[in-house]
Amino acid sequence: MNPLLNVSQLTVRYRGSNGPITAVQDVSFSVYPNEIVGFVGESGSGKSTVAQAILRLHPSESVEVTGDVRFQDTNLLTVKAEALRQRRWTQIAMVSQSSMNALNPLRTIEQHFNDVWIAHPSQSPRDRHTRNVELLAMVNLDALVLQKYPHQLSGGMRQRIAIALAMMFHPPFMIMDEPTTALDVLVERDILARIQALQQDNHLSILFITHDLHVIFKLAHRLLIMYAGEIVESGPVADIQRCAYHPYSQGLRRSFLSIDMPRVRRQGIPGWSPDSKQQHSGCRFAPRCAYAQDQCLTVAPSFEWIDDAQTHGVRCHYWREIVPLILWSCVW
Ligand code: ATP
Ligand code: SF4
Ligand code: MG
Repeated sequence: MNPLLNVSQLTVRYRGSNGPITAVQDVSFSVYPNEIVGFVGESGSGKSTVAQAILRLHPSESVEVTGDVRFQDTNLLTVKAEALRQRRWTQIAMVSQSSMNALNPLRTIEQHFNDVWIAHPSQSPRDRHTRNVELLAMVNLDALVLQKYPHQLSGGMRQRIAIALAMMFHPPFMIMDEPTTALDVLVERDILARIQALQQDNHLSILFITHDLHVIFKLAHRLLIMYAGEIVESGPVADIQRCAYHPYSQGLRRSFLSIDMPRVRRQGIPGWSPDSKQQHSGCRFAPRCAYAQDQCLTVAPSFEWIDDAQTHGVRCHYWREIVPLILWSCVW
């Protein structure tokens, strides 16, 4: 099967007055039709930077983006601005944590929907109201909501409206950047269930960004784990849930409790992520890694597939030596 999105060697540098900051370095991954790919990593690891680079949302005068971002055979980094504009919303939509706060307080929800139809006349249905009601039903909201103003709705309802707006043109691919982080746990659970149903009913592909591994284990099919601007492990969720190979992924797994995992003490990962201005000579995780050797301080590890089918990969010099040491914490 061909991927819908293929990101290759993506590097993003913010140009600052104190010199450039390389926020993302040589990131490569694919998203296939009809799958949710979870993108996880701690704050500042570069998740949103990757999402924005895919949609070319960065101002070119202050951000340098290199690499290749292919969406259905089109390189989004080089395609003309108008062709890219046409693909946004209709082919690729984005829902972010702040989407629910981007609604105009002076316009009703129905006016928000109609503004988007008016901006895309070729896609507008004859009976907009009926279509608006259908879109609301997709996110489990009543038609009465159309007459409300944003301030009359809860955060969870506004976030569902942001998702309904993103679904207007049935895009095959969506990027969701922490769409539930600002919501309480019960509302989050409800919205995640809705996202899962929408994905299955519409055969959507979703790149789902979060710092919460627990959410991703429930939602995603495959997982990308990011640390300090690099992907350090990727693979099927079931495999990583059973046994993570990279010491950072193992730390993430240990930092939350699950009834599916062996009884281990919940532990955070000691230390802090490197400052993004720092120059790296070796493994970026070395200062926090319990398994670090001399080589880790001077030689940057490359990304290696651990299986012949190239489904599960890891960026660590010593994963072969480490795996026997952590088998006790794996679920087979
Ligand atoms: P979070 O989980 O907090 O949303 P993230 O993984 O999405 O974090 P990014 O927002 O992509 O991380 O940031 C990656 C790095 O790039 C950080 O070190 C951040 O400080 C830096 N960065 C992000 N935006 C800018 C900007 N506009 N100018 C300069 N540096 C930036
Ligand atoms: Fe740890 Fe070395 Fe592997 Fe980096 S390369 S994760 S420092 S063992
Ligand atoms: Mg972010």
